[in-house]
Amino acid sequence: MSQSYEIIDHKYDVIVIGAGGAGLRATLGMAAAGLKTACITKVFPTRSHTVAAQGGIGASLGNMAEDSWIWHMYDTVKGADWLGDQDAIEYMCREAVPAIYELEHFGVPFSRTEAGKIYQRPFGGHMANFGEKPVQRACAAADRTGHAILHTLYQQSLKNDAEFFVEYLAIDLIMDDEGACQGVVAWNLDDGTIHRFQAHMTVLASGGYGRAYFSATSAHTCTGDGNGMAARAGIPLQDHEFVQFHPTGIFPAGCLITEGARGEGGYLTNSEGERFMERYAPTAKDLASRDVVSRAMTMEIREGRGVGPESDHIFLHLEHLGGDVLQKRLPGITETARIFSGVDATRDPIPVLPTVHYNMGGVPTNYRAEVLRPTADEPDRVNPGLMAIGECASASVHGANRLGTNSLLDIVVFGRAAAIRAAELVKPGATLPPLNEASADKAIARMDKVRHADGNLPTAVIRDELQRVMQNNAAVFRTSEVLKEGVDKLDAVTSKMTELKVHDRSMIWNSDLVEALELTNLVPNAVATLYSAEARHESRGAHAHEDYPDRDDKNWMKHSLAWIDEAGKCEMTYRPVHAYTLTDEVDYIEPKKRVY
Ligand SMILES: Cc1cc2nc3c(=O)[nH]c(=O)nc-3n(C[C@H](O)[C@H](O)[C@H](O)COP(=O)(O)OP(=O)(O)OC[C@H]3O[C@@H](n4cnc5c(N)ncnc54)[C@H](O)[C@@H]3O)c2cc1C
Repeated sequence: MSQSYEIIDHKYDVIVIGAGGAGLRATLGMAAAGLKTACITKVFPTRSHTVAAQGGIGASLGNMAEDSWIWHMYDTVKGADWLGDQDAIEYMCREAVPAIYELEHFGVPFSRTEAGKIYQRPFGGHMANFGEKPVQRACAAADRTGHAILHTLYQQSLKNDAEFFVEYLAIDLIMDDEGACQGVVAWNLDDGTIHRFQAHMTVLASGGYGRAYFSATSAHTCTGDGNGMAARAGIPLQDHEFVQFHPTGIFPAGCLITEGARGEGGYLTNSEGERFMERYAPTAKDLASRDVVSRAMTMEIREGRGVGPESDHIFLHLEHLGGDVLQKRLPGITETARIFSGVDATRDPIPVLPTVHYNMGGVPTNYRAEVLRPTADEPDRVNPGLMAIGECASASVHGANRLGTNSLLDIVVFGRAAAIRAAELVKPGATLPPLNEASADKAIARMDKVRHADGNLPTAVIRDELQRVMQNNAAVFRTSEVLKEGVDKLDAVTSKMTELKVHDRSMIWNSDLVEALELTNLVPNAVATLYSAEARHESRGAHAHEDYPDRDDKNWMKHSLAWIDEAGKCEMTYRPVHAYTLTDEVDYIEPKKRVY
């Protein structure tokens, strides 16, 4: 098989797959630690989805009012509906403060207060004094925070001599016979060559899988490739049933209007002109946690109080803020509203609808970013040679529901943690073991099979069916019946993969093949999501199950693990949530009812 492709071999100390915020923060830290570092990415680094992040990055700097990382930790544990690992959450919230100052020193152009400090805005679920009142914790660069961070991290990575392989599509991990990761096989889209990258440590930083749904705020490149690769390498996918719907996707395009818009004073109304969030969340109102706001909006629409000719969406008001505030604090979304809904946000409300936004689940890791391959006896067993960070990982700091601004924070803190851990584990220039050629050949054979797929169904047809099943059967509200139907329908879609048709057999800039390979990654992500959702008989965070409306800590305070075999069959096991903290500085936060 490999004879029919031109193969080029590379040896590095570490390889990072993905050049979003997570991948670049790791790449930069590893290169700076003297490790020979390669970063492989299917899109140009600054086109990664991180670039689209608008609202901000959370840290208790206390620039606007008193704040504390312990309050941030409390909000994150509560936002996660007690499914987060508290050791990892403690680590993230404490490290947030130095991580932001580090970004500032790297050159991120944050917005400023009058006094010249980093500007911070309110965001959903961020409260002072253990849930008492909202606090301004989201550090922002206008409404282009991700853009500012991503460009700065790329420049810093170049400065530290990291090597980039741009527009290379990673196909599959290379694993040794004991299950340790040795590297990755990738395809250079520009010249059709195949590359075997070998390293002591491989880091998955490949982003989320929002595109498993029909309507998502994420880029079309967010196809969960790293999760697909991990699943094929025998690693389970953790907590995939928890999918975050952002309350304010523009209707009907789905593009995001940042929560920062409500942070700056925007509010939602129904067809009666009522500010209905006051009924659902008397304290936090429009700034309650995302799952709470998305459900409230869906309830209003279901009960006939949606706006528009079909009563199928909700209004977001910003017009009272005035042109000056919109221009200064929210310039990007004013433009987005004009382009995608034809609305002048300084005069009229913006039509919005909850839209798929973020994947809480992913490849299981510990707080050092090391990937876990749990067993019944060893639920925290580390899989050697492999790390995962950012949206493709589940550390698990977001548990059942992520707080806004905690993902930009997650990618920076755990990108940095991965670099720190890799520098401890890998000696620069140490000799690599012999490459497991059989594993690399298997990856190439899989790609070759997809390339020559000769059925009747183009990628777009199967993908569309998959996205609609997810949209209809794994949405904001779920019932046993809807989920069971979803599992059956998804099985039917999966079985159609044998009828896949790839028209273009070229190896040069072949988007037909790229999309087909991405579809082979969307499938395990979708399967893990629906199977895990169907199995979880409770409501927690983003998983709102109408037949089991309460959270059930006795039976369900545990992480779902979906193990997917090569035929696409899925088996569920579970591992305990970490009910302890990392240090004595803070105590375990006992579960209680989540109200805003
Ligand atoms: C519109 C929008 C707004 C958001 N706003 C905020 C916000 O204000 N605050 C916040 O905290 N969070 C926000 N989020 C969430 C946050 O931005 C993302 O979760 C985070 O940026 C993900 O970063 P990442 O590095 O994990 O992945 P990404 O930025 O998605 O990068 C993934 C990388 O992996 C590479 N890759 C993927 N597959 C392959 C492959 N097969 N081969 C090679 N390379 C591959 C890609 O090329 C890319 O470089 C927002 C998300 C969206 C969609």
